[in-house]
Amino acid sequence: MVSKKLLLLPGDGIGPEAMAEVRKIIAYMNAELESGFELDEGLVGGSAYDAHGLAISEADMAKALASDAVLFGAVGGPKWDSVPYDLRPEAGLLRLRKDMELFANLRPAICYPALADSSSLKKEIVEGLDILIVRELTGGVYFGEPKEIRDLGNGQKRGIDTQVYDTYEIERISGVAFELARTRGNKVTSMEKRNVMKSGVLWNEVVTATHKAKYADVTLEHMLADAGGMQLVRWPKQFDVIVTDNLFGDMLSDIAAMLTGSLGMLPSASLGAPDARTGSRKALYEPVHGSAPDIAGTGAANPIAMIASFAMCLRYSFNMVVEADRLEAAIAGVLDDGIRTADIMSEGKTRVGTTEMGDAILAKFKALAA
Ligand code: NAD
Repeated sequence: MVSKKLLLLPGDGIGPEAMAEVRKIIAYMNAELESGFELDEGLVGGSAYDAHGLAISEADMAKALASDAVLFGAVGGPKWDSVPYDLRPEAGLLRLRKDMELFANLRPAICYPALADSSSLKKEIVEGLDILIVRELTGGVYFGEPKEIRDLGNGQKRGIDTQVYDTYEIERISGVAFELARTRGNKVTSMEKRNVMKSGVLWNEVVTATHKAKYADVTLEHMLADAGGMQLVRWPKQFDVIVTDNLFGDMLSDIAAMLTGSLGMLPSASLGAPDARTGSRKALYEPVHGSAPDIAGTGAANPIAMIASFAMCLRYSFNMVVEADRLEAAIAGVLDDGIRTADIMSEGKTRVGTTEMGDAILAKFKALAA
């Protein structure tokens, strides 16, 4: 049997509350579907700082590296605002991304029909939307050297960030995008700024060459990133998979997120390179939202982003496509039934808390399996 070692890192604030709902689904899958997940748990963020004085302990880091997938809740909160910069809660997440070499960030933007009215765009533009943004996560201008503020000695300073991409980085991120496109709508749109940036020229060349060499069956189009931002709000359904660099991906994925309504709905995955021996990738799954200190402990958090992150884990780490589809259908079904947490509440719907939403999704998931 394939190993299914899952490390749960619930974190702070609403992280543990949302993770508790995923734990119920896993318990059911192990008991009734014999899914065979081996669960372990660790601390990250403020909770790790309180226990170990670090944003993640070496022991938990080792567990993450030995696991088949990590499920991450959220970190941070006012309690840790004054801890030293290197020990701040977010440092735990950055360390995980770095040490696990998670270079591909996947952000789906799915608009559930039942929530089409909560988008800031017109219903017909977003209803049924299903796109995936693949963002390069470990290179580009956020990491390139030199990166400094230089004193020019004449009363002026110069801020410098450097955009750098090597061929291999573009090949591997575009390879992920092409492979994922094959499992969806079979189309990739690559976005860069080749009109004004040398790294954009290289990005365009390498994506084109990668496509020609290995993925000619997938439709490829190129778009300038600024035009891409415009098209995302004009007619987002023209896209299937968008692949782009770290900086443009940061912005374009936030634009895409807003198409779908609440932060409490958005899952994400970060993947590493396939292991040469087993072919499996290191992977971390997390909701896009933070620890929401304003509602932590009130039972109001929407657990859907966390549950949908687990659905991505089933799909991408364990190839459990049937179960992933079923879990996503369970989420859509509960929304169709008019069940809502406060963040997605609208007139005439039934308002529930975190636990009730988790229970409703689990009940629907069970019913769909029957
Ligand atoms: P946030 O995402 O925590 O919250 C923004 C707003 O959205 C809040 O009003 C919150 O109540 C609401 N919200 C978020 N998730 C929700 C959910 N699941 N259900 C219902 N409502 C939800 O962002 P913030 O307020 O800017 O940051 C709070 C803390 O989280 C900070 O310490 C920040 O550094 C941290 N943070 C962590 C991550 C992460 O762990 N990956 C990401 C973003 C922010």
